[in-house]
Amino acid sequence: MDTDVLIVGAGPTGMTLANELLVAGVSTVLADKLPQRSELSKAGGMQSRTLEALDQRGLLEPLLATGDYPVTDGHFAGIPLPAHLARHRLPWRSVPQVAIEGFFEEHLAAQGIHVRRDHELVALAQDADTVTATFAHGDTLRARYLVASDGAHSTVRSLLRADFPGRQGTLTVVAADVRLSGADQAVSHTWSDDGHWAALFPLGTDPQGRPLHRLALGGPGRSLPREVPVTEEEIRNGLHRVFGSRVRLLELRYARRITNAARQIEQYRHGRVLLAGDAAHVHLPLGAQGMNTGMQDALNLGWKLGGAVHGWAPENLLETYHTERHPIGAAVLRNVQTQSLLMDWAGTRDPDVAALREFFTAMAQIPDVQDFLADTLSGTAIRYPMPDTETHPLIGRPAPDTDFPGSVRLHELLRSGRGVLLDPVGAFAEVAALWSDRVDRVGQGAGTDAMLIRPDGYVCWAGSPDGSAQDLKQALGRWFGDPR
Ligand SMILES: Cc1cc2nc3c(=O)[nH]c(=O)nc-3n(C[C@H](O)[C@H](O)[C@H](O)COP(=O)(O)OP(=O)(O)OC[C@H]3O[C@@H](n4cnc5c(N)ncnc54)[C@H](O)[C@@H]3O)c2cc1C
Repeated sequence: MDTDVLIVGAGPTGMTLANELLVAGVSTVLADKLPQRSELSKAGGMQSRTLEALDQRGLLEPLLATGDYPVTDGHFAGIPLPAHLARHRLPWRSVPQVAIEGFFEEHLAAQGIHVRRDHELVALAQDADTVTATFAHGDTLRARYLVASDGAHSTVRSLLRADFPGRQGTLTVVAADVRLSGADQAVSHTWSDDGHWAALFPLGTDPQGRPLHRLALGGPGRSLPREVPVTEEEIRNGLHRVFGSRVRLLELRYARRITNAARQIEQYRHGRVLLAGDAAHVHLPLGAQGMNTGMQDALNLGWKLGGAVHGWAPENLLETYHTERHPIGAAVLRNVQTQSLLMDWAGTRDPDVAALREFFTAMAQIPDVQDFLADTLSGTAIRYPMPDTETHPLIGRPAPDTDFPGSVRLHELLRSGRGVLLDPVGAFAEVAALWSDRVDRVGQGAGTDAMLIRPDGYVCWAGSPDGSAQDLKQALGRWFGDPR
């Protein structure tokens, strides 16, 4: 065996997974077909749950120190969601994907994981114990598991002959990185009376410190085939249709056409091969969800693969990657569909859609609705299906970051990549000792309820501080395998 896990594709999903496996102490090869890191501008927004996940690994502060990444409002179908700013300890940030990938690649290299570039996977075979991968230049590599994070046009998915059901793209819109004049006066989502629209998001600054924006443009007649190059003239014209002379193009740095294709693979696991990120689900980048969902797939998968490689994972732990993450991907596809309809991305000017949007916009001013929408997009509303969810409101949900005595936060306790047991009155010391190689116990003063938290930060058991040790034992066995 050459390595425990081969990760194919060093985008944000693959790099996040490599870091999770590093923390789990698993040997990993991270391969990418590109000779160097892509500088293509893609994602620009990082959501609360992804920020929390980075904080759980001690990577958030170092990432944010690499540039100026402002807090952003977020939106659902262009309706601003300021409510989340007040409620989330870590509100959304505008962090370009290139900065995230650059940061991760350096961090991984410093820990000894160097992306193997110029490694295009072209074939794979698996048996009961091994996956054998073949690269374009003829090398082969044998691993215990292979994770496909090779993006929307995944080679691994094709080699598996796995269905990728969903909807073909029916329209394209323009996405561009631009420098503008007058952008500070513009509302981020604006429609003209004749069905043209523009969406604007801050994208940090250029090396001279001048503000950059991500611009999306669409409307009647604007849906051209993907391969047709986007021109400056087209951007100027689109801006003028929506903003008149208030907003002008100063510099076009990069532009592409994106489609509204929406697809999701049926099974995230195919034997020893698992799929994550865009390789498993694609949709319009509405509400900044693609990269965030992929990075959270990786967070869910990493510690489970760790358990499988180290041999302590219970029989079905790896299966829960599919049962937990597939419904999340499906829900993202649905909310993206809802948003593109409400925003009339197709520029239909259908009066029924206009009425629906007006009604929905009014409803979205209700604080509880704002919270619901913000939590849905932030990843903070996620509740994985787990036993006993009815017995405690936090089971299945991300554990809230809490300050403990000694100035330690829960996220800091999770940096070891191990499970954490909060045992506020010290009632569970004996049971916890049986799993002390996989789970850290935090005693006196650790919150009010007893709680078992998985390495990915999700609560998998909770109860009264002096409750049944038998229940806890069962939960430890379910998530962390047999006692020592
Ligand atoms: C304009 C735009 C704006 C976006 N905005 C946002 C946003 O604000 N927020 C958000 O969350 N998402 C956003 N997205 C979506 C986001 O960019 C993707 O979801 C994200 O890149 C997916 O990451 P990934 O690692 O799964 O795949 P990718 O980033 O596609 O990485 C896949 C990697 O696999 C490699 N690869 C492919 N085939 C092979 C092979 N055969 N062998 C070896 N390597 C291979 C590729 O070279 C690539 O490096 C946006 C996308 C676009 C286009």
